[in-house]
Amino acid sequence: MQVWIDQDLCTGDGLCEEIAPAVFTLLDDGLAYVKQDDRALSDPGGVQAVAAVPTDLDEAVIEAAEECPGECIFIEVA
Ligand code: SF4
Repeated sequence: MQVWIDQDLCTGDGLCEEIAPAVFTLLDDGLAYVKQDDRALSDPGGVQAVAAVPTDLDEAVIEAAEECPGECIFIEVA
């Protein structure tokens, strides 16, 4: 499973980071980014920053996408 965030829609509430801190992080710009190997993919972000989700975090990432108030967490299943 892979995941990316559309920062244009992100409200910055941080819910995703609360639910799955290993996959999502809020940066200084107040927006959420996906992480891979403990590194935020933010340059650039958006659809060009697609992170692979460790299998044991699939459920947490799905929950984050469902709860995301900006509806801006996008999951891709390979
Ligand atoms: S839950 Fe959604 S809107 Fe909230 S910080 Fe994360 S990506 Fe942004």
